[in-house]
Amino acid sequence: MRELVADKRTEGFNEVVSGYLEQEALSEAGRCIQCKNPTCILGCPVKIDIKKFILQITKKDYPGAYSTIRQTNNFPSICGRVCPAEYQCRRSCVLNKGKLAYCSPEAVNIHFLERFIGDYGMQNNLEVPMQPDGRFSEVKMAVVGSGPAGLCCAGELARKGVKVTVFEGLQSCGGVLRYGIPGFRLPREVLDYEINCLTKLGVKFITNTIAGKVVLLEELFQQGFNRIFLGLGAGVPSFLGIKGENLCNVYSANEFLTRVNLMSAYKFPEYHTPVNIGKHVLVIGGGNTAMDAARCALRLQKMSSIEPHVTVVYRRTLTEMPARRLEIQHAQEEGIKFKFLTQPKEFDSDDQGFVRQLNCLICELQDADESGRRKPVVLQGSDFSIPCDLAIIAVGLGANQVLTGATPGLKTDKYKDIIINSATMETSIKHVFAGGDIAGGEGTVIEALGMAKKAAISILQNS
Ligand SMILES: Cc1cc2nc3c(=O)[nH]c(=O)nc-3n(C[C@H](O)[C@H](O)[C@H](O)COP(=O)(O)OP(=O)(O)OC[C@H]3O[C@@H](n4cnc5c(N)ncnc54)[C@H](O)[C@@H]3O)c2cc1C
Repeated sequence: MRELVADKRTEGFNEVVSGYLEQEALSEAGRCIQCKNPTCILGCPVKIDIKKFILQITKKDYPGAYSTIRQTNNFPSICGRVCPAEYQCRRSCVLNKGKLAYCSPEAVNIHFLERFIGDYGMQNNLEVPMQPDGRFSEVKMAVVGSGPAGLCCAGELARKGVKVTVFEGLQSCGGVLRYGIPGFRLPREVLDYEINCLTKLGVKFITNTIAGKVVLLEELFQQGFNRIFLGLGAGVPSFLGIKGENLCNVYSANEFLTRVNLMSAYKFPEYHTPVNIGKHVLVIGGGNTAMDAARCALRLQKMSSIEPHVTVVYRRTLTEMPARRLEIQHAQEEGIKFKFLTQPKEFDSDDQGFVRQLNCLICELQDADESGRRKPVVLQGSDFSIPCDLAIIAVGLGANQVLTGATPGLKTDKYKDIIINSATMETSIKHVFAGGDIAGGEGTVIEALGMAKKAAISILQNS
């Protein structure tokens, strides 16, 4: 895959991965051996007919391939850019060499082919036709949250002629796709295109409206909405619980990324939300959020003419890192350093209350724990410190309780995620459905889409 070279890409927020040209897509699609029993499909959370759409590419039937993917995945241009395919469809490709935790390079680049087709659809305005069904004219749908789950549910229902209004707490729609994942991974034009398609289908978006504060669920019912879908995501950052976490210049990755991506800190002073970017940035964590935060920080340093110096601190090793392999590779190419087997102990400050250094302990790995990954155990007395003047904590996200806490009768589990009937996606409140991260914990974009689609089908079947 063609990419911007590391030095060039870190000068700004332009997209890193270029996407296939037609000949490249044809040649990659030609590598698929069209297995009799295509295991790749089993590896896809929404079971895209991968074998069929790749065959359609080889025949240059791009509209057909688009239609095949859209049967099960609403946003191919988005998933083709962000899906952790190496753990999903590509890992199940029979061309893989050996048994691996993630795919080997021989596996067909299914996600890049998906992106090629999604972008073809976008460039040629191939919209999925409306199939209005008179039966659903009485359904008045409120969707709360405009992340992938909310957008997908809204689109599925709008296409059937359902009147849909999306309520979003932030000033712009897209959820993590807007405020979390940076534009160099997912250009905003791609997201805006998908949201515009929904607007064209008649979906109404009401932003700056936090359900549970500005409007309660029972008020939505009183306003005439008779079905509600909750796609609230997992927007509350977890912290380490160590001394010094509240020092100046210690951010949660959520706040940092929101400032940079949603509020365009990288365009300061054109936009008025600067980030006080440091000379030595530490990012704590090993997932996609950590990679995005580190890569944004490095770009901000370069854009501020600061010699880049970003280190990711992770308590396991590269093998256990849950981030997409491509993001790790890109981060390494861009000059981000990794400090593995390192457990943060406490932050120290200077006399002004700004973070000065992270005190740490060295870890070693024991056998796998319940998460399937090897468990880090600290070595007592192995203390050392790393200087930093900006620290970003990216150690997980949990449920936001603004709405669930304000809605009696809406049952949640021990993680405060909404409990759903997994067959219907209905919550403990009749006619209220949920999907995405709020109903399954931190997941992936494609998993959120899968749940939302299931909810939409269930809403239609029971209306
Ligand atoms: C930084 C980062 C990078 C990631 N990278 C990847 C990746 O590369 N690939 C991948 O597959 N997954 C990735 N993920 C995970 C993926 O983004 C999520 O699984 C997915 O976005 C979940 O979708 P969702 O619709 O459930 O929630 P979200 O995307 O979180 O959207 C929820 C929306 O609901 C709104 N909301 C919440 N409460 C209310 C309320 N009370 N009233 C009104 N609106 C409300 C929020 O403002 C938000 O817009 C990443 C996550 C993060 C944080």
